[in-house]
Amino acid sequence: MPQFLSRRALLTAVPRAAAAGVLLSAAGTPAAAQNQPRRRRMNFIDAHSHIWTPDTTKYPLGPGYLKENMKPASFTPEELFGHCRPEGVERVVLIQMSFYAFDNSYMLDSMARFPGKFGGVGVVDWTAARPDEEMAKLGKHGVKGFRVYPKNAPIATWMETEGFERMFRHARDHGQALCPLIDTAALPSLTNMCEKHPKTRVVIDHLCRIGTDGIIGERDVVALERMARFPEVRVKVSAFYALGQKKPPHADLEPMIRRMHTAFGARRLMWASDCPFAVVGEQYRDAISLVRDGCPWLTAQDREWLLRKTAEEVFFS
Ligand SMILES: [Zn+2]
Repeated sequence: MPQFLSRRALLTAVPRAAAAGVLLSAAGTPAAAQNQPRRRRMNFIDAHSHIWTPDTTKYPLGPGYLKENMKPASFTPEELFGHCRPEGVERVVLIQMSFYAFDNSYMLDSMARFPGKFGGVGVVDWTAARPDEEMAKLGKHGVKGFRVYPKNAPIATWMETEGFERMFRHARDHGQALCPLIDTAALPSLTNMCEKHPKTRVVIDHLCRIGTDGIIGERDVVALERMARFPEVRVKVSAFYALGQKKPPHADLEPMIRRMHTAFGARRLMWASDCPFAVVGEQYRDAISLVRDGCPWLTAQDREWLLRKTAEEVFFS
């Protein structure tokens, strides 16, 4: 529930920027893109999107979730493809949606329905006795990552539990990743776990949500940069609609992305949209264009890593 509430809070904080998005699209490509070829049909990967179906009989919602919480009411794989394919995105990493709780079946069924098109990040109950056994079960269906977040735990020590110990070990031994949805306040406890488990892959969501309050804080940026000392930590460069000025073309986020590029290198950064939330007040193109067509300091190789290879390595291999 808290995760969903925070998602709602993110959404309500997004200004109605659709008009600006339409203007940008009508005018063609952003200025920075004029020196670069359009990158269509490049088999890009979107490393983070959610899907759901209005069919709550076949796929019931978890405790505490109501059908009216689902906004938009429907976001099926077909609807997702309608947004991403015109921008050159052929594969997507699905992130288990909060309102299905620990029932990952809609995600799994969709992965099976479109073989090779979807990676999967599931959710298991990390407060249960054996979350690693659930990870093993989901792993058999191709799930390569697990979403985690502090829930109601004390932020200073949220990750230092028996359940997370098991998850870090299982992920390390089976080539899976832990994917924290966190703010920088949660980094100290994650740091302690990375020190104990340096070989476990970790993928931090949405630039550690720096700038959700509109401010790209220097201390937050430094805290995230410092995570680069762990070679298995990667960062999702994503959810631009919810960060900083929250307005296309999201150029205000470029300095932070450049800092992360310097700290982590492109091989540990992966771009993602965070659909469907990214296409509520903006268009899919507004989510991808900054990294695909902007940021002129990115080399062609960097873009390949950001837009495909990093996510491929973690979630499709
Ligand atoms: Zn998301």
